[in-house]
Amino acid sequence: MCPSDCSKRLSKVVAYIGLGANLGDPVMTIESARSAVSRIADVRELAFSSLYRSTPMGPADQPDYVNAVMAVETTLAPLALLRELQIIETAYGRVRTGERWGPRTLDLDLLLYGDETIVSDVLTVPHPGIADREFVLYPLAEIAPDLDIPGRGPLADLVSKCPQRGLKVIEHA
Ligand code: ATP
Ligand code: MG
Ligand code: MG
Repeated sequence: MCPSDCSKRLSKVVAYIGLGANLGDPVMTIESARSAVSRIADVRELAFSSLYRSTPMGPADQPDYVNAVMAVETTLAPLALLRELQIIETAYGRVRTGERWGPRTLDLDLLLYGDETIVSDVLTVPHPGIADREFVLYPLAEIAPDLDIPGRGPLADLVSKCPQRGLKVIEHA
């Protein structure tokens, strides 16, 4: 453990991960990314939301997204968890084009890490978009309705202020 191994925490933390995809077969990608995240060493799945279809943020000339949110229990430190998520993104063929919010095979964002607030060059937690993205707030509320978002307040309040836009649960995905 730290200082010899700063990638680990002594105690378990509950983290929330946002999954998104809009290229290839996004439903299959999200299901399979769920398994990949669950297989990360020192990560255990606690809950997984329904799959949702959402209209793209940013450039409109791209397919709809499939989104979901999962809760995990982990002893990985935040940066170690982020690194593992990025390895999975890359394994799914994600190419970083530099275009913000452009189409992607897989996006894995670290939404929350316990009740911690983290601000660094490579990681901001809570995720900066958490309070105004319907495709994050609604699935998050499905699996953790009583959450408090550090610095933002009760999740239920954020949901009530966030229009659903085109967000729809995918039935029998
Ligand atoms: P957004 O973060 O607005 O949803 P995006 O997911 O398309 O946009 P990415 O290209 O996936 O953005 O990530 C850009 C960078 O954001 C990553 O290299 C990563 O270091 C950084 N980053 C900062 N905070 C987070 C976080 N909480 N989760 C994931 N990546 C983060
Ligand atoms: Mg994202
Ligand atoms: Mg991302």
